[in-house]
Amino acid sequence: MSTAARPVTMEKIASLCKRRGFVYQSSEIYGGLASCWDYGPLGIELKHNITEAWWRDSILARDDMVGLDSSILMHPKVWEASGHVEGFTDPLVDCKACKQRFRADQLAGDRCPECGGELTDARQFNLMFRTFMGPVEDTASTVYLRPETAQGIFVNFQNVLNSSRLKVPFGIGQVGKSFRNEITPGNFLFRTREFEQMEIEFFVKPGEDRTWHEYWKTERFAWYQRYGIRRERLRLREHGPDELAHYAKGCADIEYEFPFGWSELEGIANRGDFDLRRHAETSGKDLSYFDEETRERFIPYVIEPSAGVGRPLLAFLVDAYDEDVAEGEERVVLRLDPRLAPIKAAVFPLLRKAGHPEKAFAIRDLLKQHFAVAYDQAGSIGRRYRRQDEVGTPFGITVDHQTMQDDTVTLRDRDTMQQIRLPVERLVVELQARLAARPAA
Ligand code: ATP
Repeated sequence: MSTAARPVTMEKIASLCKRRGFVYQSSEIYGGLASCWDYGPLGIELKHNITEAWWRDSILARDDMVGLDSSILMHPKVWEASGHVEGFTDPLVDCKACKQRFRADQLAGDRCPECGGELTDARQFNLMFRTFMGPVEDTASTVYLRPETAQGIFVNFQNVLNSSRLKVPFGIGQVGKSFRNEITPGNFLFRTREFEQMEIEFFVKPGEDRTWHEYWKTERFAWYQRYGIRRERLRLREHGPDELAHYAKGCADIEYEFPFGWSELEGIANRGDFDLRRHAETSGKDLSYFDEETRERFIPYVIEPSAGVGRPLLAFLVDAYDEDVAEGEERVVLRLDPRLAPIKAAVFPLLRKAGHPEKAFAIRDLLKQHFAVAYDQAGSIGRRYRRQDEVGTPFGITVDHQTMQDDTVTLRDRDTMQQIRLPVERLVVELQARLAARPAA
């Protein structure tokens, strides 16, 4: 059905996102702010569905996980202990001719990639955004916008332990905003200066860390496929020893083959006891764990599956994008997993008279209690299907002449385009069943 001859490009995705209200440039009426993006009415639904799926699968469905929402601003000592003040840097070079800045480790040669000019020597540039707390702007009031959500979890380790009945191994998950003053942001949502993360810190007994690291690699790799990303566009890449972050004992990236090449969606690191040990030393607080069964005290090791939200969202869009011919017309279709689709069903009156709109409104109101639904009566029925296909709405419901006689409607499937007829009273149950799992490809 799909036309593989016309590959998806970033231009097509960005244009669809703007046209249909998934993503707009931030502050666009003022010319935009570099690498900052706003999620529009459909984008926020998609983003919400992704984080909700992650939360449900990573936290609610498990006995060994709990959630947290820590604040973005934290005590400055947190970032000293974590190593970010000293070490969260990228090597920066400037072009002496055109004054553009680049990450030295991302350049192929030793000349400016834009104008061929001479480059300065590399110097370390800290990626944390700094601001001031309170009315006085001095070093004593300096705070940072967090560059990762992880540290909010580490500093709450004892709080969660003391206020729950959890035993190691267990994990804490968090979804929230992070900020990095990236030197070279770009590729639409892929690298931005403000972004959201979905992070898990999973605390284990030292010695059991390798097994848990393998477990989380497998689990997270499977998660993306469970929500429809095709296997051949995913790979797990182990970091070489020279790539490892200062805290990591081992790390693997889940990568996706974007139109601009293979790039990281999520990193899964074995952080050892680095973070808890450093926070214990810096704060003077005991962050060890006492194992009642073995009567042992230890500082847990941590396995960290750390994903963004924007990057997976972009991957879901790219992977779902397709162009084909449907009912004799060319169409763009987003084959999103129905659970992620921003709108689950659209209701169409065949005519704008003969009682069809009133009936369609009533069906929309019925479905609205359960799902995100749209109503559309503008243009031919074919065009209305196309509009919904383009934003990934999995189901179309049409009210026609027969509806007025026997209270049945047609239900059209976005992917197969097959239509069935069913009574209105069965619609909710039918949609619930179809939305519960991705239909077989
Ligand atoms: P990269 O090497 O691409 O800069 P990273 O290894 O620094 O990424 P991590 O620190 O492992 O990234 O962050 C975990 C996840 O957070 C990443 O896999 C990614 O999904 C997301 N992320 C990190 N930086 C950004 C960014 N600037 N924009 C959007 N998402 C990001």
